[in-house]
Amino acid sequence: MKRLAALTLLASLASSAFAQTFDDKFRQLDELLPTPTDTRTASGAPGHAYWQQRADYRIRVTLDEAKRAVSGSETVTYHNKSPDTLTYLWVQLDQNMFRADSANRNIASYPSREAWKTAATPGGQAGLQYEAARFLVESRKFDGGFKIASVTGSNGRPLKVVINKTMMRIDLPQPLKPGASFAFDMAWTFNVPETNVLGRRMGFERFDKEDKNDLFEIAQFFPRMAAYYDAHGWQNKQYLGDGEFTLEFGDYEVEITVPADHIVAATGELQNADVVLTSAQRERLQRARKADKPVVIVTQAEAEANEKQRATTTKTWRFKAKNVRDFAFASSRKFIWDAQGFKKGDTDVLAMSYYPKEGNPLWEKYSTQAIIHTIDSYNKYAFDYPYPVAISVNGPVGGMEYPMISFNGGRPAKDKKTGALTYSKNVKYGLISVIIHEVGHNYFPMIVNTDERQWTWMDEGVNSFMQFLAEQAWEDHYPARRGEPRNIVDYMKSRNQQPIMTNSESVTNRGANAYAKPATALNVLRETVLGRELFDFAFKEYAQRWKFKRPTPADLFRTLEDASGTDLDWFWRGWFYGTDAVDVSVDGITEYTIGTKDPEVEQAWKRAQRDAQPVSVTDQRNAGTLARRVDAHPELKDFYNAHDDFTVTNADRNKYNATNEGLEDWEKALLKEGKHLYLVDFTNVGGLVTPLVLQIELQDGKKYIERVPAEVWRYAPKKITKLIVTDAPMVGLTQDPFLETADTDVGNNAWPRKATPSRLELFKSRPPQDDMMKDYAEKLKVKDPKEANKAADQAVEAGKAVE
Ligand SMILES: [Zn+2]
Repeated sequence: MKRLAALTLLASLASSAFAQTFDDKFRQLDELLPTPTDTRTASGAPGHAYWQQRADYRIRVTLDEAKRAVSGSETVTYHNKSPDTLTYLWVQLDQNMFRADSANRNIASYPSREAWKTAATPGGQAGLQYEAARFLVESRKFDGGFKIASVTGSNGRPLKVVINKTMMRIDLPQPLKPGASFAFDMAWTFNVPETNVLGRRMGFERFDKEDKNDLFEIAQFFPRMAAYYDAHGWQNKQYLGDGEFTLEFGDYEVEITVPADHIVAATGELQNADVVLTSAQRERLQRARKADKPVVIVTQAEAEANEKQRATTTKTWRFKAKNVRDFAFASSRKFIWDAQGFKKGDTDVLAMSYYPKEGNPLWEKYSTQAIIHTIDSYNKYAFDYPYPVAISVNGPVGGMEYPMISFNGGRPAKDKKTGALTYSKNVKYGLISVIIHEVGHNYFPMIVNTDERQWTWMDEGVNSFMQFLAEQAWEDHYPARRGEPRNIVDYMKSRNQQPIMTNSESVTNRGANAYAKPATALNVLRETVLGRELFDFAFKEYAQRWKFKRPTPADLFRTLEDASGTDLDWFWRGWFYGTDAVDVSVDGITEYTIGTKDPEVEQAWKRAQRDAQPVSVTDQRNAGTLARRVDAHPELKDFYNAHDDFTVTNADRNKYNATNEGLEDWEKALLKEGKHLYLVDFTNVGGLVTPLVLQIELQDGKKYIERVPAEVWRYAPKKITKLIVTDAPMVGLTQDPFLETADTDVGNNAWPRKATPSRLELFKSRPPQDDMMKDYAEKLKVKDPKEANKAADQAVEAGKAVE
């Protein structure tokens, strides 16, 4: 404890701070963000001159089940809403990623020779040796990609085209003026890749061992307009595999011809239920709209009967979808189908699930419920779901989103002998989470239409954050993987990180970098930096401003600052443009009380301080053993042997009285306040500036939190001394007691230091071998451990391919 004169305190604090090398963590982002324009304002809102292109599609496709191929034709009407005259159009041929000679296949590389054997293969399949080897062989054999049969103008004449891998340029017969439209036709075919062999985001699954049927999940199935927009011109990044899709809004009319006994799920509203559905199915659908739990449209028994058929005729399903940026569908005779309506605010949606019997008992219980839960939760934080349907399909794709429809993996494991289907906790929550995630993608990026090919985090990170909020509302202690700050600590500590602001194709650790870290950052922003009220308003403002429009990162950053009334440049700089971690160390504490200037009080205090000093070893050993000369010869003692250094003299008293008379009343009162002052030294070990969350514990048992804004680091980002004033002596101080800042080393967060509790297990010198396979088999109640092993592998694989 130290005594000091009150007036010198603040001056000494400020001077110590400036002694460090200065790195301005609060520097504005001006040199990193694009200059605001009339299309994108400095506030982060669309400007008065905001524009975006539009493309309407009429598509007719046929699924050839026997050949596992799709053929189609389309009419695209492209509306040039830009202020620019265009002389050519770019079209995306994303199906070409599956070509044996595609850039995706050719640019595959590995960090090391060892890594290629175990790492994920270029198609995103799990790196099990057999699967990886099969991918390498099959991806070079598969005759994939679009075969473009024709590209013609509305007059039927061929248009000049140039194909550049996954892009195709169409040279326009005449320049397309601002405000004008251009319609053209294309015809094409492609072979459907087998998802479990070639991946990714679409394909078919074979059930050769079961009923010899296939299940088709079809997407990227037609040439789509590339995006042309104010910030980038034509989106010119090839589809290399990781960066997803950048698309324009439009209206779709799609006719899908499939075997007559197939059930089709698709983006949009079914237009000819009277032709493709039975009257019983139509009646059930009507009932589902007003039901309070899912109504089965095609029962499992009906689906199992369908599995045994092989229709020789076809049926054409007609769908319409308004204001969507893409279209996908699924088709199989294996589908069980259930539905339930949900109406709230401006939302009036039919939630529907399609799954094979292999998905039960999990799917009938959770899928449609999870869809409705997602919409209910996302509506609160973003905007009311505007589309008429929301669909979750179970098939080979681990997790992938399209407008109104999503493909979700996750199934129970099957006992080979008994055929019983059971599931683990991981499979259950993995399925609920993936459905929340993929249905949630309707909001980001299907409606808040970000450029996925540039920025994976803008849809995946934002959506993973929204997913976390929805998971919290599902049940208490929901096992959420991403969003909770303590869960990101291992990644924040890891080496070779990249900033979140890294292009989709260059991100190595997609799950942590583009999903978990931005989701966690937004959660920290909500709970710790801004608080829920300010954050929720600002986030909703972002969603409302940019729904059915295309925001860039700057629009997100600027809107959250603009609508929360808070400069967050330091936060974006640290969390999104950097790779530093939060790690604050509480280094030391000095206690002060304010001097009263009263000599009686002050001298007594000084005496107490002296008496509290430790007794030196020499004094301890001399005590009672060493004969002193002055004791033997008392005549050697004088005035000073009797005088205490802390004796108060009359001169001291007179001086105090004189001074006291000169003090104002408020000055006298201040001296008697009796506050306890602590100077606490903090080091920013991690480098990422953070608010301080200080839990202060007083001697009288009181415990409370002081929240200190991140700006506390503004003068000195590496080391600060902070004054804390308390009413009673402080006995403990903990920084970040609830682990809300993602602090990577909590060992240095407390004063006095706390030992980290940990368990040390003692082993026999030869430990028994873990039989995890047996454990897992017991958990799944599966007799044959090999089957459990396979189920575990499948779970891992499904988890890996979630987008
Ligand atoms: Zn996703």
